[in-house]
Amino acid sequence: MTKKRVYLDHSATTPMDTGVFEAMKPFLGEIFANPSSVHSFGQEAKKHLEEARDKIAEILNAESSREIIFTSCGTESNNLAVKGAAGACSGKGGHVITSSIEHHAVLNPCEHLQKNGFEITLAEAGARGTVDPEKIMNAVTDRTVMISVMFANNETGAVQPVKELGRLIAEKNEERAAKKLPKIVFHTDAVQAAGKLKIDAQELGVDFLSISAHKFYGPKGVGCLYVRRGAKLEPLLHGGHHERNLRAGTENLAGIVGMAKALELAVLGMPKEQERLAELRDKFEKSLKKEIPEVTINAAGVERLSSVTSASFSCVEGEALLLSLDLEGIACSTGSACASGSLEPSHVLKAMGVDPALAQGTLRFSFGHGNTEDDVDYVMSVLPAAVEKLRKMSPIWKNRKTAEKK
Ligand SMILES: *Cc1c(COP(=O)(O)O)cnc(C)c1O
Repeated sequence: MTKKRVYLDHSATTPMDTGVFEAMKPFLGEIFANPSSVHSFGQEAKKHLEEARDKIAEILNAESSREIIFTSCGTESNNLAVKGAAGACSGKGGHVITSSIEHHAVLNPCEHLQKNGFEITLAEAGARGTVDPEKIMNAVTDRTVMISVMFANNETGAVQPVKELGRLIAEKNEERAAKKLPKIVFHTDAVQAAGKLKIDAQELGVDFLSISAHKFYGPKGVGCLYVRRGAKLEPLLHGGHHERNLRAGTENLAGIVGMAKALELAVLGMPKEQERLAELRDKFEKSLKKEIPEVTINAAGVERLSSVTSASFSCVEGEALLLSLDLEGIACSTGSACASGSLEPSHVLKAMGVDPALAQGTLRFSFGHGNTEDDVDYVMSVLPAAVEKLRKMSPIWKNRKTAEKK
């Protein structure tokens, strides 16, 4: 009998939807031309490229398709927004505000800016795992040129007050215009939110918004950046005149067509699927709390993505628990995929004030299309015993239990 396998790591990446695969096929074969070529082959490719752009622009409610710039991934989109916008306004000021719970694809570009003379403020997220818009606005100085706050956190799923921030930044920009100060541009990393929450770029009041196809059942290696009309940006890649001179390099047409299809499918199925996932997650969290002592669900008190459970188990090594689940065919993660392998506790949990030892005992379970109630039952048939076994090896746990018995 083949062993049961359960994939609960959809925040790291998702399997490609079959509809997406079908949509991409012609572009891996007969429609191969360079969209920048003048001949009819190129023009045909160009037509499909622009159709994909139109579709994505419409779904994100951009004002125009010209506001969509294709990139190679979420990381590139974030780099282009953070470094590109800072580069475009340097000389006029040099202060950037971001949050302590951002993905490294935002934090590390900010660190790079810091090395190049920018001042960076990391706004605290607080125990609930969300940033406080008022605190962010209080950090604004005359030199502030950019604010970057993610839409939904990749470790806890906590949804950030992006819309409120957009409103406050717009108000601030009106005051600043009167004082002839540069406009503050606003970027959001919406990589985890895309396909799970409604994204309306105009309503959010953002200048830049990043998404990545492989997080919503599209292909890997393709993303885009929404760049609001008039928002200034310096390219990272210099070369041909692709993507309105903002991103040189021949477009990944198959990937782009796949991304447009994936976004369309995700948004179409969103209300039903998100409700279904929330039910699965709630069932999972309920039995976690019932069957395992001393487990905390992170960011439980705030609006969260319906697909994510971040659970901290006291006196357990997260990495060891992950491996014992893996032996049973269950895939989850400690923190984010990009940070695993490092022994550092998650910067997100640290920012939330979670005790470092408890942060080390944290696993992220992220649900998706393929998961059913059966999967939750299977995980719960394995997890409590795995936790208990590891706790029996923990001196702290043993001492505590002995003390309790006395
Ligand atoms: C996955 C992820 C990224 C990086 O996207 P890639 O396409 O893998 O480069 C950026 N931000 C968040 C919040 C993510 O979850």
